[in-house]
Amino acid sequence: MIKFFGGKKDKHATPTGDSTSSPETLADSPGDQSDETPEKKPGLLARMKQAVSRTRESFSTKIENLVALTRTVDESTLEELETVLLTSDLGIATTTKILDALRDRARHQAIDGGAELRELLKAQLCAILEAPQRPIAAPDAPPMVTFLVGVNGAGKTTSAGKLSAWHRAQDRTVLLCAADTFRAAAIEQLEVWATRSGVEMIKTRQGGDPAAVLYDAASAAKARHIDDLIVDTAGRLHTKTGLMDELDKMRRTAAKIIPGAPHQVLLVMDATTGQNGLNQARQFTQAAGVTGIILTKLDGTAKGGIAVAIAQELNLPVRFVGVGEQISDLLEFSPAAFVDSLLG
Ligand code: GDP
Repeated sequence: MIKFFGGKKDKHATPTGDSTSSPETLADSPGDQSDETPEKKPGLLARMKQAVSRTRESFSTKIENLVALTRTVDESTLEELETVLLTSDLGIATTTKILDALRDRARHQAIDGGAELRELLKAQLCAILEAPQRPIAAPDAPPMVTFLVGVNGAGKTTSAGKLSAWHRAQDRTVLLCAADTFRAAAIEQLEVWATRSGVEMIKTRQGGDPAAVLYDAASAAKARHIDDLIVDTAGRLHTKTGLMDELDKMRRTAAKIIPGAPHQVLLVMDATTGQNGLNQARQFTQAAGVTGIILTKLDGTAKGGIAVAIAQELNLPVRFVGVGEQISDLLEFSPAAFVDSLLG
């Protein structure tokens, strides 16, 4: 569960005109947010269920078949379960951990049929997903600075827009920083999201220096006591030294203006890439100081099991999941809701 603390709740903070002449601000339009803000908690389980329906179809069906046929849980049942987990994008390390725990349990106390096996599996999945979840250390004074990083096409810009709307729905003020000055149309695309979510955005021209626009955005966010500064960065691979250096420069720039910034670096990861994406994410995590994951496109894939592998193998919390292309299609991740949605 994410905890946010402090920060001034000034919903209608207006531009103070303090950005420099090159970066520009996009005027706020408070009226825009009313009908498109994300839903709050009540519908979370239902929406999660809908989002993981493709994963559920394949994963849950296989598990339910196994459970239905199981009167006594023996080694051959556990081997079948192992195959199901391996073919559901959980990966070898995660599957081994789960099976070791189940075998250990079976040695001490027999597993009483398929239904109990299912409950034990759910508990294992929950424990793995919970383990890396931790509260975010809130800054002493706002803003909280969040960088979004990842490869092109993962859904960074879309997630930056959705995340802005999500924070607005929590009654927090948001400033967006368009620091993806590399990809053509990224700034315009983010501008559309800024308007939709009713937040201001600070930008520069395409090809401009991302550290410079971040400097202006961080200064403005601090001066205006904005709660959240969300920074969309250029898509990069961990192997591109120049771009990784640029990210380092952005970190230093943010920290100069706002102590402790960036407070979060969220890796935006496309769930449809499954185990392949995991390898890339592992290297990214080390190179970019990633603190959490936004797992996008969960709606379009049967590879949702990757969330469990991320928690186990990267030791990173999944913070949010992207479940569609609309502004409200971002859900705060809850291990229990996720597991219930898969095997409820
Ligand atoms: P970026 O290059 O990382 O900034 O990626 P974009 O934000 O431009 O997203 C790439 C594509 O993925 C766009 O067509 C988005 O609409 C789509 N997309 C992003 N998040 C989701 C999601 O959660 N679900 C679905 N179905 N599509 C998404």
